[in-house]
Amino acid sequence: MMDSSLQEKTLDVVKIREQFPILHQEVNGKPLVYFDNAATTQKPLAVINAITDYYSTINSNVHRGVHHLSQKATVALEESRHKIQQHIRAAEPHQVIFTQGTTDSINLVSIAMERSNLLRKGDEVLVSALEHHSNIVPWQILCERTGATLKVIPINQQGEIVMEEYRALLSENTRLVTFNHISNALGTVNPVQEMTRLAHDAGAWVFVDGAQAAPHTAIDVQALDVDFYAFSGHKAYGPTGIGVLYGKEKILEDLAPYRGGGEMIESVSFEKTTYAGLPHKFEAGTPHIEGAIVMGAAIDFLNEIGLDRIATHEEQLISHALKRMAEIEGMRFIGEARQRAGAISFLIEGLHPYDVGVLLDQMGIALRTGHHCAQPIMDFFDIPGTLRASFGLYNTTGEIDRMMEALQKAVSMLR
Ligand code: PMP
Repeated sequence: MMDSSLQEKTLDVVKIREQFPILHQEVNGKPLVYFDNAATTQKPLAVINAITDYYSTINSNVHRGVHHLSQKATVALEESRHKIQQHIRAAEPHQVIFTQGTTDSINLVSIAMERSNLLRKGDEVLVSALEHHSNIVPWQILCERTGATLKVIPINQQGEIVMEEYRALLSENTRLVTFNHISNALGTVNPVQEMTRLAHDAGAWVFVDGAQAAPHTAIDVQALDVDFYAFSGHKAYGPTGIGVLYGKEKILEDLAPYRGGGEMIESVSFEKTTYAGLPHKFEAGTPHIEGAIVMGAAIDFLNEIGLDRIATHEEQLISHALKRMAEIEGMRFIGEARQRAGAISFLIEGLHPYDVGVLLDQMGIALRTGHHCAQPIMDFFDIPGTLRASFGLYNTTGEIDRMMEALQKAVSMLR
């Protein structure tokens, strides 16, 4: 019998789920419920087949060869760059740099800023208190190495950035402001446009970590006016090991390269090497060709469904989950931002999140427990970690109801 909840209003979830073979399996004798989408998303057949197609038909190194396969692979890679450019509404394809993922994109900019001598003692980098370790540690290293100061933009008990405090922190010393578009740990959606405007008024650059935004919302880098924007393929139904750094053209042109090697040069001699233009200046070595091409297939998949419909579907999931989860005695939501997407973090009074997570796994439900690579957030709430349910476009309200049954069972077993 078909799960009635699969007949969601906005998306044909039955049809969508047919495209995700991994979802049709049992875990510990129970149908898998996959609620760990903030860590990584599952892959549709369009993506799985694109990987096979690439290796079966055009596998070859790019940008160098005159031969047929190399040209095909180069065209496919550049087409994918173009797709991503249009998807995030960047002005030019060469503003889309392929990286290994969000972490790599952040390291690229932080290292390039150091190499370009852009920071010195007295300069300040503002990082929100809502960040993944990936968007903290590279900036910490940058500040340590340049003598600049790292300052933290505080959050409130709802898990929202405190805008008055942010305004107060901005000054003529601020060189860079960085924050995520959507928090992986709490699901907070940040006011990117407003924060960017304020940073620009102070003369600072803005780097946005879009790892959690790419699967849930349409991105328009020009409307947001951000200087840099990063995201990972694997969190948006594409492959691991590939991601994107977007940057404003003039800024990217002026930044020093962060890695040297093949592909990133114009000419090399022992006396003087000159660098290639964008985007190749930042793409040393053989790229993750298959990953870059297949990321384009994942973007086609998202656009065929439509990000606005995905967002509406996921909003329904979140509001259903929040309503149902509140039924559990001792339920404590960690992070209750007014604007939220993707993830719900929670604790149940008297129960260790790890114990609950293990019991849920025994019932086929994949949730994440721990600090979600955001230890400062856990410190702020004075907790060691949380349970986190994070949703994707293939999830259903019926699955949330199954999680509820499992949570009720876990509570009665553990209490
Ligand atoms: N930032 C955020 C908000 C994330 O959720 C993640 C991944 N959990 C990252 C950065 C790092 O992404 P990746 O591991 O793909 O580089």
